[in-house]
Amino acid sequence: MDRVHITDVTLRDGHQSLIATRMRTEDMLPICEQMDAIGFHSLEAWGGATFDACVRFLKEDPWERLHQLKAALPNTPLQMLLRGQNLLGYRHYADDVVRAFVERSVAGGIDIIRIFDAMNDARNLRTAIEATRQAGGHAQGTLCYTTGPVHSATQFVTLARELVDMGAQSIAIKDMAGLLTPTATRELVTELVDALDVPIHLHAHATSGLSELCHWQAIEAGCRHIETAISAFAGGTSHPPTESLVAALSGTGHDTGLDLVALQKIGLYFHEVRKKYQRFESEYTGVDTRVQVNQVPGGMISNLANQLRDQNALDRFDAVLEEIPRVREDLGYPPLVTPTSQIVGTQAVMNVLAGERYKTITNEVKQYLTGHYGRAPGPINRVIQRKAIGNAEAIDVRPADLLKPEMDHLTRDIGDLAQGPEDVLTFALFPEVGRSFLEQRRDGTLEPEPLHLPENTQAGCPAPVEFNVTFHGESYHIRVNGSGHHREDTRPMYVTIDGMPEEVLIETLDTIDTAGGGSGGAESPRTGKKSRRATRPGDVTTSMPGTIIDVLVAEGDTVEAGQPVLVLEAMKMESEIAAPIAGTVRAVNVAKGAAANPDDALIEIDSPDA
Ligand code: MN
Repeated sequence: MDRVHITDVTLRDGHQSLIATRMRTEDMLPICEQMDAIGFHSLEAWGGATFDACVRFLKEDPWERLHQLKAALPNTPLQMLLRGQNLLGYRHYADDVVRAFVERSVAGGIDIIRIFDAMNDARNLRTAIEATRQAGGHAQGTLCYTTGPVHSATQFVTLARELVDMGAQSIAIKDMAGLLTPTATRELVTELVDALDVPIHLHAHATSGLSELCHWQAIEAGCRHIETAISAFAGGTSHPPTESLVAALSGTGHDTGLDLVALQKIGLYFHEVRKKYQRFESEYTGVDTRVQVNQVPGGMISNLANQLRDQNALDRFDAVLEEIPRVREDLGYPPLVTPTSQIVGTQAVMNVLAGERYKTITNEVKQYLTGHYGRAPGPINRVIQRKAIGNAEAIDVRPADLLKPEMDHLTRDIGDLAQGPEDVLTFALFPEVGRSFLEQRRDGTLEPEPLHLPENTQAGCPAPVEFNVTFHGESYHIRVNGSGHHREDTRPMYVTIDGMPEEVLIETLDTIDTAGGGSGGAESPRTGKKSRRATRPGDVTTSMPGTIIDVLVAEGDTVEAGQPVLVLEAMKMESEIAAPIAGTVRAVNVAKGAAANPDDALIEIDSPDA
């Protein structure tokens, strides 16, 4: 019998796709014995965003989770997802960090490492593939599936061959967006099976409603390894249901041999677990065919929706979805997966919110355009590149070739807080969040984020206000949820009036001061300085709220127009904010670490002839 093997992804991609990676280890362990008895090819249980979520939100040690899962799942190979030279972080690491991370992962219990690069630049997978083989793990090379004028089945076969030559022992088609159609799947799998001697795995998200058909076509074309999530964490931006695929193949020549009754018990367990995480439910748990039109992966859609909601700009969602393919074209058609999805997505949001394309260019886009993420699949837009990096030289080598070994200095930097190399690696991946995690662990103050928000707290509203108002004898219950960008003299406030969401336009009367000096505006608690609404040509402002991570000028400095004066972090990306005019810095109204609100005068510049 030509059996089909199943990798269940519930413990990693299932909850990453549907509840923002928030499932806690305590909800995994009780079901492990039953999962271990099923006979899965492997369980995807670690890597991807789980490491970040553990350290940042759950205050769990991700390494400890791995060790616990390994102990609870002794008979089933554990699989992780690794972003090649980016590991589980958001930058390129030196080879010694990649080797150490892979070695510790395999030593900690990982059997199979699926390795991918967001650019499909094979050079960025080489060190991780070699290190996995060296550590005794199974190295799986990955094709990040995408479409566009520079992508074809033939090109994916070429990339797969390159990865196998590097040592990859199997090849995964990673369709993170749910972009595959049944016909495209059949064509790609047929070509890969013909060309390669290693097993082909299909990892295809259910977003667009086509994934069961795609899996069927893949199996018909010779694929013997498919990926599913237990029904309670299946569908939507996750994967097709394990139980359904097992049932579909049952009694055919491709029977999985798995026990459907036992699987259903596991499904019922996770059905109860999911209820706990209602706060983190994605908006997109159903079928969303937009990906077939705009190529935006489901995970990215939910991230963008959250980020736009934080900016009170959810009404611009469709404009952003239209802008994403244009940015992607400018960048040479990269696949959209972490981190390129975030790079492209954030730039698209900036292009839309600023009302002008590439008025602000994130530092990550600049890095991308200088080759620091690797080679783009297609030609990049030279005009945008010139605008972003001026006359700076782009590099053509593997980005990590320019990095010096890092483990020694990372070990020194984190010092006694690290109890072993695993802790150094946690710090390497997440310098700020990782350090504070290790500090809190030392102090015994680790505390997971709450599963439930207090009733009246809304994202994007640092100081929620809830009150009753009586006008002419009628009472209204009002809750202020946040505010938006200025439009002319008014600023929209988002409020709930007797339970109904409303947008109210507030005319601001007290912040405009054309005579100079900073009277009026609200006092920023972080800086103690006054900020006022930007009204003059020399006012430096931001089109999106964020955090100031660097102030590049001081009062009295002379600046050129276009000179970077602030570095802002917004939506996980950094961007420089430039001086709008040449002149002298009269006032710096923000400090490092301060929150920056749209339309506030963050820095004030006097033109020389003022
Ligand atoms: Mn996935």
